[in-house]
Amino acid sequence: MLKIFNSLSKNIEEFKPIKLGEVGMYACGPTVYDYPHIGHGRKYVNDDVLKRVLEVVEGYKVEHVQNITDVGHLVSDADEGEDKLEKGAKKAGKTVWEVAQEFTDYFLKEMDSLNIIRPDIECKATDHIPEQVELIKKIIENGYGYDTAEAVYFDVTKFEDYGKLFGQSLEDKLVGVREEVVTDNSKKHPADFALWFKRVGKYADHVMHWESPWGDGFPGWHIECSAMSMKYLGEQIDLHTGGEDHLSIHHPNEIAQSEAATGKKPFVKYWFHSLFLAVDGKKMSKSLGNVYKVADIVEKGFSPMALRYYYLSAHYRKQMNFSWEGMEGVSNSYKKLKKEFLSLRVEGGQDKNVFGKNAVELSGRETYFRDEFVNAVENDLNMSEALAVARAVLKDDILSSFEKRRLVENFDKVFGLKLSEHDDMPIEVPAEVTELVNKREEMRKSKQWAESDSLRLEIEKLGYKVSDFFDGVKVEKI
Ligand code: AMP
Ligand code: ZN
Repeated sequence: MLKIFNSLSKNIEEFKPIKLGEVGMYACGPTVYDYPHIGHGRKYVNDDVLKRVLEVVEGYKVEHVQNITDVGHLVSDADEGEDKLEKGAKKAGKTVWEVAQEFTDYFLKEMDSLNIIRPDIECKATDHIPEQVELIKKIIENGYGYDTAEAVYFDVTKFEDYGKLFGQSLEDKLVGVREEVVTDNSKKHPADFALWFKRVGKYADHVMHWESPWGDGFPGWHIECSAMSMKYLGEQIDLHTGGEDHLSIHHPNEIAQSEAATGKKPFVKYWFHSLFLAVDGKKMSKSLGNVYKVADIVEKGFSPMALRYYYLSAHYRKQMNFSWEGMEGVSNSYKKLKKEFLSLRVEGGQDKNVFGKNAVELSGRETYFRDEFVNAVENDLNMSEALAVARAVLKDDILSSFEKRRLVENFDKVFGLKLSEHDDMPIEVPAEVTELVNKREEMRKSKQWAESDSLRLEIEKLGYKVSDFFDGVKVEKI
């Protein structure tokens, strides 16, 4: 059984979902006002690994919902400051809607390049304004919200456990809040947070705005996650993920809003938080010039899969430190693992499942390694240990090549490292070339060698070379 750290209880707990066999998982998604960086990559790869373990090893059906924060929001977590999206739009000379869509597309592309399985539902905050309004109404009806001239606030003093969530006292929070300039004097308590902002005063010109029972305005940031997770996963959910920055404000606020609206506790059974990625021991920041995108890693000649290997080598509950030397090292380890795996020139039957009730029959030695792998991942996702098991399998003197391939191919359903793909470097292959490559594959399968050779020439004329391997083809630029 999977054992996982629950940041709410601060304990490692056995994972038991609310419904038998099914897991509802909500992940706080990106704010789409800027390019995603390798820190985001870390968080979403960690979510992806957790989801793959739940599905592949534990046999659950996971419903994965992830939001896209495309409503303009304020720069800091507190309710002050310049709007993130409007700031991005100004910089790019575009509308906020254009900026949000472009960065959403870019985010999805970058996450795809890291081989992250897309969530079942990707929901935009701007498509769920009525749901957010309904939830705010319930919160007010239940006595937890109040209306001022500038906004509708959540009254944190009414929510009994608010200060205790994630082991923080309300006093600790106040220290943080005091550093911000509190401009709305009608706020009853400095830690009260906005559910709805009115388009008045400093927000009179806010670009994104909607009608509501409290006047024209826009939702506070936290409410979208409560509204969308409830819409798609129900009032109580199994699993909620986020980065460590959400422990202090965003997630306590989500819990308070949700439980205040439904009266049901807990809103979330297990909270999964990834620690941050730093670069050369420092927080990534524009001023230091160390905010890297996945594309920057690729530009230096590293595969996104080597970056994924880097992520897997660091435990999700420890800070990860990225450096170019480290990247070079993990890239070599990744290449070595892949080379050893691909040198097992065996085919057939490897796709058989080795996990759970429907596993194929395994030899004693295979069972031993399978169990080692399962123990590692079930131990709070010890992925570096799981990678060590894969390396040990490939080096083993007793396992046959067939058994090695079958095991590691199954492990890779969790790693997601594309071990069986010869080329994991993303290259832009034009659709025209892909079409010819696929046609040539068909010809080869039906042993029409002359046709396949002439298609190869056509592909070469377009500037691409195809090489054949026992289990697929590789396309390269000439
Ligand atoms: P944001 O777009 O800033 O709302 O971030 C989206 C998700 O990525 C959140 O869950 C953040 O906690 C997480 N995140 C942001 N920066 C980092 C980082 N440097 N390392 C790891 N996760 C991060
Ligand atoms: Zn959220």
